[in-house]
Amino acid sequence: EIGRKLFAGEAGFYWAAASLGGLPPMTGVEIAFAGRSNVGKSSLVNALTGRRTLARTSHTPGRTQELNFFRIGRAGSPLAFTLVDMPGYGFAAVGKEKVAAWTDLIHAYLRGRANLARVYVLVDSRHGLKDTDARVLETLDKAAVSYQIILTKVDELRQSEAEGRIAATRSAIAKRPAAFPDILPTSSRTGAGIAELRAAVARLLAE
Ligand code: GDP
Repeated sequence: EIGRKLFAGEAGFYWAAASLGGLPPMTGVEIAFAGRSNVGKSSLVNALTGRRTLARTSHTPGRTQELNFFRIGRAGSPLAFTLVDMPGYGFAAVGKEKVAAWTDLIHAYLRGRANLARVYVLVDSRHGLKDTDARVLETLDKAAVSYQIILTKVDELRQSEAEGRIAATRSAIAKRPAAFPDILPTSSRTGAGIAELRAAVARLLAE
């Protein structure tokens, strides 16, 4: 299927930015993955790309908080794009000042990136939307950047709990202008929803 083909080609890290001034030039389509720290973002990026260690999971010592840019797909292909792994927000253990600096960077990037086609906002299916998530959605709505909510770790919930979380999340974003109405339940552990997410990215790029 189209989604699998998209991620079957090359994938490689090419840029890290710790500040707005350090961002790469705006070339090609960017698709960003954002979420609270520990939401399962690195695991999802690795599952999506089929690369075990493309994004560093929180177990990696010395993990830095930067925007990491990965090229996905063959250079020159109309479906090639840049995947942006954003720093996890709300990681309190590092101290208020650093959290504030990263939060500023995340919001500034989301507001000011003309080639940003979509943001996937990851939400832990056990916890649902938090205030820090709502602030990111607010920024995206104001900047008119389209986004979709991905629920992570659905393997931790029973089917009925997962359905309840999906319904609650859908109604929480119903009035948000830039939100894509469908909620994507996923699990990096079982692979649930990964093919659907790949297909969603492929459809977006084909638009
Ligand atoms: P990040 O900080 O958002 O990049 O999150 P990581 O990918 O490093 O994952 C954070 C923690 O959640 C780790 O302990 C992972 O093993 C766990 N985790 C990630 N994905 C899943 C999942 O799909 N299911 C479950 N049960 N745990 C997960």
